[in-house]
Amino acid sequence: MKIIRVGLDVPVATLFDYRADDVGADDVGRRVVVPFRRKIVIGIIIEIATVSAVPPHRLKAALHVLRDSPAFLADDLHLMKFASDYYHHAYGAVLMSALPARLRRVHALPRPVETRFVLTAAGVSADIDQLSARAIVRRRLLALFKQERSLDASTVKTVAPTAPAALKQLVACGWVERQVIAAPTPAPGPHWAAAGPALTLEQAEAVRAICASRGAFQPFLLLGVTSSGKTEVYLRVIDAVLAAGRQALLLVPEITLTPQLEALVRERFPSTPLVSLHSALNETERLKHWLAAQAGYARIVLGTRLAVLAPLPQLGIVIVDEEQDASFKQMDGLRYSARDLAIVRAQQRNVPIVLGSATPALETYYNAAIGRYHLLSLTQRVNAAPPRIVCISTRGEKLENGLSQPLLAAIAARLARSEQTLVFINRRGYAPVLMCHACGWLSGCRRCSAQLVLHLRDRRLHCHHCGYQAPVPVTCPECGNQELAPLGQGTQRVEAALAQHFPRARILRIDRDSTRRKLSWHAMRRRIHAREIDILVGTQILAKGHDFPHLNLVGVVNADSLLYSTDFRAPERLFTLLTQVAGRAGRGDMQGEVLIQTEFPRHALYAALQRQDYAAFARNLLAERQQAGFPPFVYQALLRAEAPKLETALAYLARAARLARTLAQGVTIYDPVHAGMVRLAGRERAQLLVQAESRARLQGFLAAWHARLAAEPATRARWSLDVDPLEF
Ligand code: ZN
Ligand code: ZN
Repeated sequence: MKIIRVGLDVPVATLFDYRADDVGADDVGRRVVVPFRRKIVIGIIIEIATVSAVPPHRLKAALHVLRDSPAFLADDLHLMKFASDYYHHAYGAVLMSALPARLRRVHALPRPVETRFVLTAAGVSADIDQLSARAIVRRRLLALFKQERSLDASTVKTVAPTAPAALKQLVACGWVERQVIAAPTPAPGPHWAAAGPALTLEQAEAVRAICASRGAFQPFLLLGVTSSGKTEVYLRVIDAVLAAGRQALLLVPEITLTPQLEALVRERFPSTPLVSLHSALNETERLKHWLAAQAGYARIVLGTRLAVLAPLPQLGIVIVDEEQDASFKQMDGLRYSARDLAIVRAQQRNVPIVLGSATPALETYYNAAIGRYHLLSLTQRVNAAPPRIVCISTRGEKLENGLSQPLLAAIAARLARSEQTLVFINRRGYAPVLMCHACGWLSGCRRCSAQLVLHLRDRRLHCHHCGYQAPVPVTCPECGNQELAPLGQGTQRVEAALAQHFPRARILRIDRDSTRRKLSWHAMRRRIHAREIDILVGTQILAKGHDFPHLNLVGVVNADSLLYSTDFRAPERLFTLLTQVAGRAGRGDMQGEVLIQTEFPRHALYAALQRQDYAAFARNLLAERQQAGFPPFVYQALLRAEAPKLETALAYLARAARLARTLAQGVTIYDPVHAGMVRLAGRERAQLLVQAESRARLQGFLAAWHARLAAEPATRARWSLDVDPLEF
C-alpha cells in the first residue's frame, strides 16, 4: 500500500496521510484532491511512504492526483519548508498560499491556459511495435510524440480526423499525459538586448562584481544615491543572466511602480518573455504568469513580495529593489519578509542576490558594514545635480493653513518660471481630527484608538484604520457647542489653501482618495508630463520612483510628526521617505530645491539629510541601537493577541509569558503590553516581545514555545507570532 503525506491549508503543523496507489516518485510536489472533514479540498503531496501512524481502517483514500500542471520541484518545497519553520506557520498553509487561487480550487483549470499533451517516461520507453499494426493513427501519433515530445490539441487534430480518439487511448495507457501550461506565444527567439546608456565607472564596477559571482551565492548591497542609475545596473546584470540561459527574479515594492519598470525592461529585452506577478492581476492572469514562470518559459519575473515564492526552475539571479520598503513584509497570515526569503532562496539556489537602495534597512547596511554582504556604492548622479535641501524653521511662525511664507514665496517663483512644484504631506483627508474648542472633544473612532479624519469632499469623518464613517456632527456631541474646528492639515486642506493663495495655478492632488476616484494614476502622470499641472499635492504615493522632468521644487509639510514616534524605526523611515521625496526634485541640468518645514531645523536627522549622507546617519543610528539593545544587535519576535476586551488579550499573554520563562535560555521575555494602537476595528490588542542575541537561540526557543501554545485548548484571544516584526 502506498501512502501520501499531504500538506493542507489548515493552521496545523502536521501533514495528513492518505492512501493512494497510483502515485509515483514524480508526483511529489503535485496537487491532490482529498477528503478532509466532510469537505473535498486540494493539498500538495510532500512525501510518499509505505507506513502510516494512522491505523489502516481509518486511513482515507486520496481522490485523485492532479497532473494537469507541473509539480513543485524540490527547490520550491525546500524554500517553503524554510518559511514554515522560520515563521512558525503550518507547512501546508505556506504551500497553499504560494499557489495562485485557481490552483487552490478543486474544479478543473480554466481555458485561457494552453493544454499540451506530453510524452511520459513510459511513453518514451514504449515501442511503437507494441501497438497493433492496424492502429495506424495511433502509431503515427506516437511517432510524432517521440519526435516532438509534446503537442497541443490543434496539432494533434492535423494528424487525422480520428487522432483525438487515438490520443485518448495513448493517455489511457499512460504513454501521454495532459498538462496545462501558459501558452508560450511567440516562441522565444535568441536573446538580445537593446543598447543602454554608457556606464559610469561605479556602475561598471558593480556590474562586473555581480556578474563575477554568477553561479554562487553572494549577497550584494547596491547602495546608490537617488538618480545614480541602479536600474541600469540591474538591467546589465539581467542581460548577462539571460544570455547564460537563466531566469531573473526582480522584486519591487509597489504595484504602481511595476508598469513603469516593466516597460523599461521590455524595451531593453524585446524578445525575452517577461511576466509580472502582483496582487492587482486577475486570477487568470496570475495563473498564466505563474505557470509561465514555473515552466521556465518566462525568463524575467517582475513582481511584488508574493513573487518571491514563484517557482523558477532556472533561477540565475534575484534582485530586490528598494529593499528597505515595508511592503516587502506581509502583515497577516504568513508574516514573511520577502527580502529575507529572497536571500534564503538565493542561498539555496546558489545564485547572487542584489539588494538595491539609496537608504537601505539598517539591518542590511549593518550586514554590509561587517562584510557579510558585499557593498557596492554608486555615489555619482547620472544626469542630475543633487538637490539643495533647506530647512524652514516654523517655530513661532504664523502659518497659512500649514504653509510658511518662505515656501509660498518659493512656489510663486517657480510658477512664474512655469516650473512644477510638489507639496508633500503624508496625510490624506482635510484635517486629521475635528475638535471642539469649548470642551476639548476630539472626533475619535468608536472602533479604534484613532482619530476620525475630516474629509471635505463627502463632508464625512473617516477612520483610516477600520473604514468606519460618520457624517460631520453639526454640534459638539459632548457640550453642544456649534463651533467645531478642523485641527491640523491633510492633503485636501493644503490643496484648498494653495488654490486660495494661487487662484490661477493648476493643482492636482494625488493620494489614495484621488487615485481611487477621478483619473487613473496613468492619466494623472500624463497630465503632469504634459505640463498641464503647476502644483502637485501628494502623499507618499508620489515619493517613490516617479520622474517628472519639470518638477524642481519640493515642499515638505508636517515631517516632524514622525520625529515623535515611539517606534525605534521611525527615524529610519523618515530619512528614507524624505530622501525619496527629495529625489523628485530636479532633473538634467536643473538643480532641484527641497524646502522642509520643521520646528527642529537643527535636528541631526535633517542635518544628515541636507548632506545626503546616509552612511553617517546609519552609523549614528547603529551606535544608538547597539547601546539600546535593538535590532540588528538582537533578534526579536512578537506574540500578538487580540480579543474583544484588552484584559482577555493581556491575560492570555501573561500565561504565554509564564510558559516562555520555563523554556527560555538566553532569551529575554518582556512583559505583555498593549499594542501601539490598542483598539482596531472593535478588537483590543496586546503584544509580548521576546528577544535574543542569537538568531539560532531565538529560533530554538520559538519552536518549542509555539508548539506548546498551539497545543493548548482554544482561547478567547486570537494570537499570532510575528518573527522579525517591523511594527510594534
Ligand atoms: Zn464640546
Ligand atoms: Zn476605526
